[in-house]
Order: sequence, then structure tokens, then C-alpha cells
Amino acid sequence: MNFNHLKNEANKVINPKKYSNYAEGGQVAAALETASGNVYTGICIDTACSLGFCAEHAAAADMLKHGETHIVKMVAVDQDGNYLAPCGRCREFLSQLDDRNDGMIVILGEDKTYLLRELLPFDWKK
Ligand SMILES: [Zn+2]
Repeated sequence: MNFNHLKNEANKVINPKKYSNYAEGGQVAAALETASGNVYTGICIDTACSLGFCAEHAAAADMLKHGETHIVKMVAVDQDGNYLAPCGRCREFLSQLDDRNDGMIVILGEDKTYLLRELLPFDWKK
């Protein structure tokens, strides 16, 4: 399975910046593909007092803005092109947006893919 197109889309939006003395972002980017084939992206935003959010969260917001909820694939990468696993909050967040999202493929390496349900065992919603 080839995920290069998603990784390329994520790489396009990586843009590390310091916004203020308390906020920076863009060091991590995520791209997700929906069941209809559209791709949405997002960047992380890090702020003091933990008010920021993850790139996966931002990509989901971009998707929801366009009226979609069903994710089939997702990737997150850092500035060096390393694949990153979604944090526990994002795993839960994405799983709540659509019941079918537990079957989304999360890319954690060139040959390392997992279903979201494998990364979120003992789901309280089931
Ligand atoms: Zn997260």
C-alpha cells in the first residue's frame, strides 16, 4: 500500500514558526484521507499552559469544515520526515467523529500500518 501522496501533502504544510513568546507551531503536520478520497491537512500548535493542539486534531477540523467525518487513512510527520503516532487524545477524538473511523489505517512507517482500533484497545464505546 502506498501512502506517499499523504506524506507529501503533510510535508507541504510543515512550516515551523514562533508566533509569540508563548506560542509556536507547524513542526508537525498531518494529512488524512476520507472515504470520498479527499485529503485534509493540519499542523500542530504548541502554546504555554497546554492550550495548543495536535496536527491530527487540526486536520480533523479541516475535514469537518468540509462536512466529512469518515477517515480511511492518516499520516503525521515531523520536519525530518519521521512518521509520528497519534497521541491518546487524538486516537479517542478521531474515533468519536465517526463510528467507522476505528477502521482507519494509521501510517507509522513505510511498512508499519495499524488500524485505529488496534491503537485504541478496550474502547469504552463498544
Ligand atoms: Zn494528539
